Amino acid sequence: MSSAPLIGVLALQGGVREHLGSLVHAGAHAIAVHSLEDLEAVQGLVIPGGESTVMSKLAIQDGLIEPLRAARATGLPMFGSCAGMIMLANRVSDAREDQEFIGGIDIAVRRNAFGRQVDSFEMDLEVQGIGGTAFPAVFIRAPWVEEVGSEVQILSTIAAGPRAGTIVAVQQGPLLATSFHPELTGDIRIHATFVEIVRQYA
Ligand code: GLN
Repeated sequence: MSSAPLIGVLALQGGVREHLGSLVHAGAHAIAVHSLEDLEAVQGLVIPGGESTVMSKLAIQDGLIEPLRAARATGLPMFGSCAGMIMLANRVSDAREDQEFIGGIDIAVRRNAFGRQVDSFEMDLEVQGIGGTAFPAVFIRAPWVEEVGSEVQILSTIAAGPRAGTIVAVQQGPLLATSFHPELTGDIRIHATFVEIVRQYA
């Protein structure tokens, strides 16, 4: 395949533009995915941060939830940040009762897990496989990972402080997820990792 894969960003709701920019900097072609036709065109898909309850509602309304699950089941690489991690988790605590997910990563996550007092914060993290220095991670009403299945690779945990040991980045085959927002920092190393995953699985 060409060295610049075509990667979509699910554009129902959330931080679409920032992900498009990061993907292009990381060497991909990038388009916003609004429809089934768009979804069928891409070789990988980013599920952005935002609000997973709203994203779920719009995906159902637009008839995209089943096609997204089908695309995932046939091996389309996906990267979810924050709300996107929630969308890709197999088990979600503190979800709305009518909330639907794409699923695929054998993890249990808890929505809004860091609590009200720490709605958003920044933290330098060691992330496996990205090389170099620590990654500047921005967390905004973020989920955390409470359980991981045996197929899941843990890429990052919080190193110190009251939340030490909390899992905040995982990969399972072509599926990548972070509790935080790499699209907001200008550091494209996690997007570059996803571009590599897409190349590898295409
Ligand atoms: N709390 C949001 C949710 O449950 C996620 C927040 C985010 O994506 N920044 O979907």
